[in-house]
Amino acid sequence: MQGKRGRNHIGDIVIIPVRCFTCGKVISDVYEDYVKRYEEYKKALDAGEKPKETPKQILDNLGLDRYCCRRMILTHVDLIGEAAPYE
Ligand SMILES: [Zn+2]
Repeated sequence: MQGKRGRNHIGDIVIIPVRCFTCGKVISDVYEDYVKRYEEYKKALDAGEKPKETPKQILDNLGLDRYCCRRMILTHVDLIGEAAPYE
């Protein structure tokens, strides 16, 4: 599988698929952005604050409007040990 090497928040190397398996949209670029913003969301929740955006809003904002692509990103976030509360 073609992929891009990255590191998750605990420093492990993870392989991010370059494209969505279903529709072929390039997702490796937005993945890192998503993880960064998702961590801010988690931090706000842990601190008892209201997050400025939800995971759903982050995905919308990154232009991931198809469920297949959203699933690609969410599955990988699950793999690094964080379950996204996602409606
Ligand atoms: Zn897709």
